[in-house]
Amino acid sequence: MVTPEQQMQFMLALRNRGVTDTRILKAMESVPRHLFVQGHFQPRAYEDMALPIRCGQTISQPSVVGKMTLALEVGPRHKVLEIGTGSGYQAAILSRLARRVYTVERHRPLARQATRAFEALKLVNVTVITGDGSRGLPDQAPFDRILLTAAAEDPPANLLAQLRVGGIMVLPVGQTDTVQSLIKVEKTENGLNYTELEPVRFVPLVEGVAHEPL
Ligand code: SAH
Repeated sequence: MVTPEQQMQFMLALRNRGVTDTRILKAMESVPRHLFVQGHFQPRAYEDMALPIRCGQTISQPSVVGKMTLALEVGPRHKVLEIGTGSGYQAAILSRLARRVYTVERHRPLARQATRAFEALKLVNVTVITGDGSRGLPDQAPFDRILLTAAAEDPPANLLAQLRVGGIMVLPVGQTDTVQSLIKVEKTENGLNYTELEPVRFVPLVEGVAHEPL
């Protein structure tokens, strides 16, 4: 549940923190964040902060989601790959803006929960895959846009290879628990252009699929 007052404060916080693009604000307004947060953190779903989710992971801070989406320059014809589904919140927003979204998560319980949220919202253009996202998704490559929501030490070569020429990849880079930078990589015919955007803090990209206790 979200009250009109909460929704207004939420949208205001996004604008104040630099998310000013109308398409992105509309997309974010249309995705109820409380559906992506469980238990006693749910009442805090409309605060601009990262919150814990299952499997020791986090749902990202909404203004960071907005700024990453902005940097990705997602358009209605794009096929997008997200690595690190987590709660599914970022993928839901991408699905409002893109033609098709594939999102990969290494924790099966998170992948399942995100799938349920997408079904509840009738988002039919987003597919969740349980797997190791550091390998990308070769079957569906190339992608117009790739977004990582877990921090890598460097942009993974597998993912750069699956990015279309003219495409954009946005990701946090840096060591775990130190300051990471959000970077934007543009793939051109003449090579890769890198732009450093802002300091961020994400959970690390971990190789392999997680083995959950039963
Ligand atoms: N985008 C998410 C936030 C993600 S937190 C949201 O909107 O809620 C980062 C996620 O990346 C975690 O769920 C973590 O399990 C996942 N992750 C880390 N390494 C991964 C890998 N190699 N492949 C797939 N997912 C990975």
